[in-house]
Amino acid sequence: MTDRKTNVPRKWDVVVIPGYCKNCTLCVEICPTKVLEMNEYNQIAEVVNLDVCTGCKLCEMLCPDFAIEVRETATEALEEDPAPS
Ligand code: SF4
Ligand code: SF4
Repeated sequence: MTDRKTNVPRKWDVVVIPGYCKNCTLCVEICPTKVLEMNEYNQIAEVVNLDVCTGCKLCEMLCPDFAIEVRETATEALEEDPAPS
């Protein structure tokens, strides 16, 4: 996903708080780009494909246990092309 005004790619970090996750699988089912899966050993949601996260925040909004946080990180442009000093 890119910023509409600048066309700069946007990046996201998705954090699952293991102690809050109640294994309902809702986030895995609703994520449109399949970023999340249930860990087969502890049955807690985990991030498996962060690169395709669009930052839609559906998982964060719909998790019934407030176990997911989606944060925007630095853009690729800022990381690859830092301002001259
Ligand atoms: S929606 Fe929330 S509680 Fe349900 S599996 Fe995902 S992180 Fe866990
Ligand atoms: S923010 Fe959207 S794309 Fe990213 S993990 Fe959550 S539901 Fe999936």
